[in-house]
Amino acid sequence: AELDTLDIIVLGAILLGTLAYFTKGTYWGVTKDPYANAFANANGAKAGKSRNIVEKMEESGKNCVIFYGSQTGTAEDYASRLAKEGKSRFGLETMVADLEEYDFENLDTFPSDKVAMFILATYGEGEPTDNAVDFYEFVTGEDAAFSESNDPALGNLNYVTFGLGNNTYEHYNSMVRNVDKAFTKFGAHRIGEAGEGDDGAGTMEEDFLAWKEPMWSALADKMGLQEREAVYEPVFGIVDRENLSVESPEVYLGEPNKMHLEGTAKGPFNAHNPYIAPIVESRELFSVKDRNCLHVDVDISGSKLSYQTGDHIAIWPTNAGDEVDRFLDILGLKEKRHNVISVKALEPTAKVPFPTPTTYDAIVRYHMEICAPVSRQFVSTLAAFAPNEEAKAEMVKLGSDKDYFHEKTIPHLFNIAGLLAKVSSGEKWTNIPFSAVIEGLNKLQPRYYSISSSSLVQPKKISITAVVENQMVPGREEPFRGVATNYLLALKQKQNGDPNPEAFGKTYELLGPRNKYDGIHVPVHVRHSNFKLPSDPSKPVIMIGPGTGVAPFRGFVQERAKQAQNGAPVGKTLLFFGCRKPEEDFMYENEWKEYKEALGDKFELVTAFSRQTSKKVYVQHRLQEYSKEVNELLSQKGFFYVCGDAANMAREVNAVLAKIIATERGVTEAKGEDIVKSMRSSNQYQEDVW
Ligand code: FAD
Repeated sequence: AELDTLDIIVLGAILLGTLAYFTKGTYWGVTKDPYANAFANANGAKAGKSRNIVEKMEESGKNCVIFYGSQTGTAEDYASRLAKEGKSRFGLETMVADLEEYDFENLDTFPSDKVAMFILATYGEGEPTDNAVDFYEFVTGEDAAFSESNDPALGNLNYVTFGLGNNTYEHYNSMVRNVDKAFTKFGAHRIGEAGEGDDGAGTMEEDFLAWKEPMWSALADKMGLQEREAVYEPVFGIVDRENLSVESPEVYLGEPNKMHLEGTAKGPFNAHNPYIAPIVESRELFSVKDRNCLHVDVDISGSKLSYQTGDHIAIWPTNAGDEVDRFLDILGLKEKRHNVISVKALEPTAKVPFPTPTTYDAIVRYHMEICAPVSRQFVSTLAAFAPNEEAKAEMVKLGSDKDYFHEKTIPHLFNIAGLLAKVSSGEKWTNIPFSAVIEGLNKLQPRYYSISSSSLVQPKKISITAVVENQMVPGREEPFRGVATNYLLALKQKQNGDPNPEAFGKTYELLGPRNKYDGIHVPVHVRHSNFKLPSDPSKPVIMIGPGTGVAPFRGFVQERAKQAQNGAPVGKTLLFFGCRKPEEDFMYENEWKEYKEALGDKFELVTAFSRQTSKKVYVQHRLQEYSKEVNELLSQKGFFYVCGDAANMAREVNAVLAKIIATERGVTEAKGEDIVKSMRSSNQYQEDVW
């Protein structure tokens, strides 16, 4: 026990030393804030930075780069974790790199005594993530033109790969598979297995943990590395800025970047720079009390944002006040919540994931995914900082025993604060360095929604259709609540002067940093998608959209109704919609009638109610009943669309359609499946699933 206390004292001393080092400087008088990070410069941040990775590693003395292709932040998080582990366990000089920020023509000059890791998520229909598009095209393109063209071109390259995918999608982990294939083709040497994590099976984290151990051994062998006792080394230095307060104009209170801080926010609005959009209308779509589905109209006319029917809108959420309080409380930061701090990367290639100077409150409320499932690796890291021996032992056990961890955490849907409080019986965890928290938690991610309006009908008003995540969990006092949808619910309740807003909902800071979101605003950006109507409106369309899967199809049908009103010849528009009971959750029931008036017999709504009678009827059952017509429409080059639940519905619809085609065309089921496959590759079959 003595040794453990000593450990903590030593760690504390190292940390204090680091802090002293950073506060000692005479920087304070300089006008340029030395602790401001790249974030502050918003879009200008990239200017003048070298895109040459070989040079960059040489200059900064690195021998291991971990590239990530990330859409929702998980791949980025895994990359940071590998960087940290490589350094603390093996003394590797690691750096993390966004694929978007480098060029790859000179990958053939990558030194053979270094290693490049690629942590690559596959997005949607086997696509690269937004930040990996150029990399992917270059590496997998027909003739990647490497600068020196050795033979083989990448004969010097030692690489490691891990993919993040979802087996419910057709092109499972295609990103990592194709990159690995291309690297092999160019003669590069892979170290360890090409790992694959499966979000569809819910095993992503465990797949990652199971893959990385043998990878590290193989890498240690290859590079002659010695494993050492891993000691926690902070990546970020936290500096108290006692001369600043929440009143100081340069302090970020949740503003996403410098323009927003200075009140000069302007486009282009994108994943780095949201538009603070007014919500012009919000209402409830369900008629039952215990479930909520929101229709929200967002006005983008004050921006240069545009969208096309079928695109996605991203909502930048804020954490609920209750959760922020719980988190700050268990870490013993509640009293310091409004203290101003700067966060500085202690090594040149690390990036602070939010702008500073800022406060603990703002970081936790606006920038950290504090409610997400807990990572087992993070639990291991935190064991060293437990407030007592018992809690430490429990954390070590949770961190090392996969089954025990799952049994203790999954059924409760714990987030990190909930788990820490449970493990220590409420005793505060004041020893955790804040750097470990920044490193261990993801950046708070925007949530995507399939736009449920037509850009032809309302080009400057984007509709969202979102079901609120709210579930009772046995053994929990309060229900589990999703981050973004409950934020939207709170905004809706405020906008409509709801007489009994939920107590939890009232805890959101709906006015935003410095009241900048007052008057019901929400930060958004638009993401373009390939989920599109045929350009020729006379082509038939078949749409399968149960539940919120109907969202983009409201847009599609709205658009076709408008085209019909404008006198265009519109083809058959067949929509399969499913919900529990017509009197509970039949979304847009009255609107469909309006569209029917405009489209006449060109529009048909086929409903499936799963709880109306003792027999559960789902959209795929109704689809089966329409075999003949569906096959006929497809033969006329009709388009087939599926939106909503990826895990079950989309798969079953695919299978049912293959059967329909087989039966109607008198071919084998295998042939039916092949036909569906080729429909997918020619975009005649499109999916928008999550
Ligand atoms: P979150 O807080 O993100 O939670 C989501 C889920 O994660 C939970 O239900 C739970 O299963 C799990 N989870 C979270 N925290 C924990 C924990 N601590 N422990 C265990 N499990 C946990 N949704 C719509 O309603 N309408 C749409 O039109 C729509 N379109 C989409 C389009 C795309 C392209 C994508 C990718 C998603 C779409 N979604 C849509 C889903 C949407 O983006 C959100 O995922 C959803 O609204 C939930 O967000 P949330 O922040 O409320 O929940």
